[in-house]
Amino acid sequence: MFPNLSDEQRRFVQTVRDLAQREFRPRANQYMDGTFPWENMRALAELGVLGMAVPEEYGGLGLSVLDTALVLEEIAKVCYVTAMAVLGEVGVQTRIIATYAPEPIKQRILPAVCSGDCLLAICMTEPDAGTDVANYRTNVDHVGNALRLNGVKTLISRADEAGMFVVFTRVDKQQGRAGIGCVLVEKGTPGFSVTGKFHTMGGENLHEIRFEDCELPPENLVLREDGFRKLLSAFNTQRCLNPSISLGLAEGALEEAVKYAKERRAFGRAIAEFQGMRWKLAEMYRDIEASRSILYRACASADPFPDPLLAAAAKVTVNEMALRVTSEAIQVHGGYGFTDEFPVSRFYRGARYGTLGGGTTETLRDLIGKRVLAGVDPTDGIFGLGAF
Ligand SMILES: Cc1cc2nc3c(=O)[nH]c(=O)nc-3n(C[C@H](O)[C@H](O)[C@H](O)COP(=O)(O)OP(=O)(O)OC[C@H]3O[C@@H](n4cnc5c(N)ncnc54)[C@H](O)[C@@H]3O)c2cc1C
Repeated sequence: MFPNLSDEQRRFVQTVRDLAQREFRPRANQYMDGTFPWENMRALAELGVLGMAVPEEYGGLGLSVLDTALVLEEIAKVCYVTAMAVLGEVGVQTRIIATYAPEPIKQRILPAVCSGDCLLAICMTEPDAGTDVANYRTNVDHVGNALRLNGVKTLISRADEAGMFVVFTRVDKQQGRAGIGCVLVEKGTPGFSVTGKFHTMGGENLHEIRFEDCELPPENLVLREDGFRKLLSAFNTQRCLNPSISLGLAEGALEEAVKYAKERRAFGRAIAEFQGMRWKLAEMYRDIEASRSILYRACASADPFPDPLLAAAAKVTVNEMALRVTSEAIQVHGGYGFTDEFPVSRFYRGARYGTLGGGTTETLRDLIGKRVLAGVDPTDGIFGLGAF
């Protein structure tokens, strides 16, 4: 059966699953008002989950993208907000620091990521440039030996809690994507402030943050030469981990729908006995399993980052599947599905994030189309072993 996991891998995923079902499930509703799930994060830090993306020499577990996806899936089955909080520690920002930051920064920050003492935020989106990354206005000036950062980032997850901000910014005077790189900003740096708050339909808060003449030491410039290509390459990790949360939400919704269909009675029998309901559950299951296959395959392609074409195809497939499945789970619950009494409305709201973050569905479809046009040979067609 794919994926071929060792006993140790299976035990680790099972341990996270047990914790999530036992402790996170009962308190999932508490986080819908923007409260950060600190108690869940501390429990996950104890298991080593927050250090999954940190190499062993810095105190982490150094696990693969696939291992990470499996763990996020188990957490998302019960609590979207916690899964999103964990994504910050196991996702692209940690992998950028672990791959590209200078040694003293790695030694200082990465052990603190594992323990949960330093949460990481990733700052890409700007008020006037979300998808359109070539138009970033955030800018680094090189002043003597130091760096000076100015700009505004918005819709940033965990900005209130994070100790370190991984900021995509213009790092030299070149226009467009060529001038984009990455700097690290520590909370408390003079000139850094949190200037706005948005409460989301998923439950968590997002923030606007501002950098005004933030002075940074030169070693905080972690990516300059060829920076944008390296950033995008690392970002394929996010394109696998975001949909692993979607997958977990869909599975959680199906579990709830099955439970409800067996309990709810109409016309003298359980609604699960109606063919219309059974076919709905069958479609949900089929949709989930088909999506799981492409996602795990995309995750397994990581070396160290996942294949861009597979990651984009997996993300679009799984994100859209989760919208269908969570919506159908509400349908199975009838009018009660629309209330806060049952978890399915929470799953549906969380699933809505998938197609927006980590590359929107529209831009990823465009990327897939371009690669297909360039990659399919009109004479030989597609060779049947996967991504060309
Ligand atoms: C829950 C959540 C958490 C987030 N966390 C973070 C975070 O931690 N850090 C961060 O930096 N950002 C974060 N974001 C922001 C997210 O990354 C952006 O919302 C996303 O990149 C889209 O940018 P935008 O909102 O500016 O939309 P826009 O870029 O303005 O796009 C609007 C619409 O136009 C479409 N569009 C744009 N360009 C094209 C094109 N070329 N072809 C076809 N359609 C196009 C888009 O697909 C979209 O449907 C988060 C968002 C959410 C919802």
